[in-house]
Amino acid sequence: QKDHDHQEEYIFRSKLPDIYIPNHLPLHSYCFENISNYQDKPCLINGSTGETHSYADVELTARKVAAGLDEMGIKQGDVILLLLQNCPEFVFTFLAASYIGAISTTANSFYTPAEIAKQAKASKAKLILTVSTYVDKVKNFADENSVKIVCIDDAPPEGCLHFSELSNADESAIPAVKINPDDVVALPYSSGTTGLPKGVMLTHRGLVTSVAQQVDGENPNLYFHSEDVILCVLPLFHIYSLNSILLCGLRVGAAILIMQKFEINKLLELVEKYKVTIAPFVPPIVLAIAKSPDLHRYDLSSIRMVMSGGAPMGKDLEEAVKDKLPHAKLGQGYGMTEAGPVLSMCLAFAKEPFPIKSGACGTVVRNAEMKIIDPDTGASLPRNQAGEICIRGSQIMKGYVNDPEATKATIDERGWLHTGDIGYIDDDDELFIVDRLKELIKYKGFQVAPAELEAMLIAHPNISDAAVVPMNDEAAGEIPVAYVVRSNGSKITENDIKKYISDQVVFYKRIGKVIFIDKIPKSPSGKILRKDLRARLTAEHENN
Ligand code: AMP
Repeated sequence: QKDHDHQEEYIFRSKLPDIYIPNHLPLHSYCFENISNYQDKPCLINGSTGETHSYADVELTARKVAAGLDEMGIKQGDVILLLLQNCPEFVFTFLAASYIGAISTTANSFYTPAEIAKQAKASKAKLILTVSTYVDKVKNFADENSVKIVCIDDAPPEGCLHFSELSNADESAIPAVKINPDDVVALPYSSGTTGLPKGVMLTHRGLVTSVAQQVDGENPNLYFHSEDVILCVLPLFHIYSLNSILLCGLRVGAAILIMQKFEINKLLELVEKYKVTIAPFVPPIVLAIAKSPDLHRYDLSSIRMVMSGGAPMGKDLEEAVKDKLPHAKLGQGYGMTEAGPVLSMCLAFAKEPFPIKSGACGTVVRNAEMKIIDPDTGASLPRNQAGEICIRGSQIMKGYVNDPEATKATIDERGWLHTGDIGYIDDDDELFIVDRLKELIKYKGFQVAPAELEAMLIAHPNISDAAVVPMNDEAAGEIPVAYVVRSNGSKITENDIKKYISDQVVFYKRIGKVIFIDKIPKSPSGKILRKDLRARLTAEHENN
């Protein structure tokens, strides 16, 4: 009993009081709860075309698409795969699925056919929403599994449907479904702390809680408000953008400016044109802005806040961007798909703004508990001591789909989600992340699961063993490096291996460097000693 009490001794909470969270509501009802206040205001602005959809318009289209999905045979609990770059149709369809109790799984549209097929199969997707140019990548899978393909652009290839078949449906035909708050609504994929990418079950309750933690409550200006114009350049298939930009933006009635892809001068032009107030980024985009020689050509003074998350942002970069955008506050947030995703955020806009230290990831969100544990003993640690960051609250995932083992390894029996990140909380409740215990590699904020690349490497007849670890890189944050043991007599080269992998994976999973080695260091139980390899890599780097 004593031990038990001791373990719970150091629990950290937000500096702000808990709030009421209506997390019994389905996600779409929660997002549109206050829509009568801003029906005619712009909701989505398509940065490519300039087309604007009002809130009333977005809600109506989402309901029509919901009825259309039902007509196409998508029922409660069914999964649809969104294989799209950022666009209004992504938003309509994600919300539509919520209306009928269906689930959206989101994937990077640059994925190779094999990567898409893996996710579509594992998630049991029944419908794929995409564009004509990607149809070739999903056709085989769709044909073999009787999966429908819907294209959002005109002239879909033979055998595919057009989005208008969804969006022209009669909204009054939406089926009456009873949505349980614990039903899954989003299924992004993440490798978590170990192994291959897994489907992360995010429920209506979880996402409503997470959005509320960020934008609801008695601090109306805490974060976003209805006068804001929020830039949505980060990919909506990733939960950072889906939750902290789209859903938070909808909840407060802000205008969401959708950019299909990142291009620095186009971004600066749109910021000026639409007077963007909130700019959520990942560190590589912050870096591109800090380094842009064209910054002075644009009026960026409308930006009141630059948010960065998804990967660590160093102090130098923070200073550089503060210098370039003196009107804006800069706040880091810390997220992890499995955590819903936001664990901590800066409170720059609380009624009484709390100063944010350089390098901090803000403070733990409201209505949640955080603790820092000793990774070896599991005991919770006091302030200023680094350990594994754990979080508990209604916002975290329900678990990994069809994977109780992996779920158990991530969420313990007392409801704590173990992040695999190492950090500490200082005297002002601010969280600092200092290291990553888990395998994950982050290339420009994108996930690279070492286990996925290792499985491909080992499958090659000329490779007998392999391990993949991150190498620091200024532009990308980290890039994957492979330690490879050649099979007996094999003369396979670095380039052969790089090509072999790049033929199978999306661009950011490509191997940056191959190092041949006699033996992969492993623990007695056969686990790759990644820390040793990382240390070796750093040493090799320093010697060169
Ligand atoms: P994802 O599930 O793709 O969002 O990746 C989550 C992981 O990204 C976290 O567990 C961290 O390792 C890393 N991460 C996210 N935000 C930050 C941040 N602000 N600072 C450092 N690492 C971060």
